[in-house]
Amino acid sequence: MTATVFPLEKFQNLATPFYYYDTALLDQTLRTINEQTAPYPTFQVHYAVKACTNPKVLSHIVSAGLGADCVSGGEIQACLEAGFPARKIVFAGVGKADWEIRLALEAGIGCFNVESVPELEVINELAERQDTEARVCFRINPDVGAHTHSNITTGLAENKFGIAMEDMERVIALAHSMSHIHFSGLHFHIGSQILEMDDFAALCLRINELQDRLEAQGIGPVEHINVGGGLGIDYADPDAHPVPDFKPYFQTYARHLKLRPGQQLHFELGRAIVGQCGSLITRCLYVKEGSRKRFAIVDAGMTELIRPALYHALHRIQNLSSQGHHMNYDVVGPICESSDVFATEYALPETQRGNLLAIRSAGAYGETMASQYNSRRLPDSYTTEDLS
Ligand SMILES: *Cc1c(COP(=O)(O)O)cnc(C)c1O
Repeated sequence: MTATVFPLEKFQNLATPFYYYDTALLDQTLRTINEQTAPYPTFQVHYAVKACTNPKVLSHIVSAGLGADCVSGGEIQACLEAGFPARKIVFAGVGKADWEIRLALEAGIGCFNVESVPELEVINELAERQDTEARVCFRINPDVGAHTHSNITTGLAENKFGIAMEDMERVIALAHSMSHIHFSGLHFHIGSQILEMDDFAALCLRINELQDRLEAQGIGPVEHINVGGGLGIDYADPDAHPVPDFKPYFQTYARHLKLRPGQQLHFELGRAIVGQCGSLITRCLYVKEGSRKRFAIVDAGMTELIRPALYHALHRIQNLSSQGHHMNYDVVGPICESSDVFATEYALPETQRGNLLAIRSAGAYGETMASQYNSRRLPDSYTTEDLS
């Protein structure tokens, strides 16, 4: 496996900060997914587009044959423009607006992942007006916890997502009674940055129980099961694990989930696909010696990468320009917020004004979460092929 090699010469002439996508690594990740799912013909992998909607990144994912999981009308448009076949697009989210539902129906997307009864009613009504049928899955809240940050667990009863398990039969019966709804499956998603395969195994066991329960009442088997995404990446050492460990992930589902004959299994992976291929490249503006701290003030901030401020996420930072001896720095951005800090007491080779730094593992939930707070410009992006 190949660690990212940065084209430093090419970087020198570019305005910072910017995102750099190692598309060779992205392609290798996509190949690995296709290899690891090849033994299981009923497995279909969708890319959770919200992780990164950069069109250059999307085009590599389209080429690998993956489907797309969207959470907004804008994402559906981006996917159609990138060339994803409409039938391979699914649309999730707790608050779908009418225009977004209309857009999805017109495009003929594969499935709506529905999260409430009022939403189901609106989809039925809009489908009727467009004289079409909407394929729907219900997002079921499985009440399965995951060992991850509390802001990114989604499968507990207290979270806002999905339909409660006890309401499942009633909602399925309602869908069957609607003239412009085709009920096709069940959808789950328990959270993000999950590295314990036992969490996914727990989800499988819960799905087995629910399938047994439905079948005991003469419902199903449903056409497909969608288990969401959530596989995590190695933020601490991206070069040791540039491609996430997909084999045990897919094996966990193959071993624990009792798929019924003909049933398709959908995955929606975001971070695991794009996380490691992206880096945020930034320049050191100043080194400030405080009385107790040494600050490396860089030209990227929480406006380009909000994960450290939002989730206390720690990204590996590399000084690409210096081979000096290591010293500790607080690496901070220029934004007027105390939380605009990438790392504290972080060992870097001696860092000077003008040095280029790479903030690693920033491909997922990086560029897509960028904002213009402080009237900042949105960051540029380059891929391996742009700079070769
Ligand atoms: C965000 C999200 C995903 C992708 O999560 P990752 O942790 O990036 O794999 C998948 N499904 C749904 C419904 C999501 O909201």
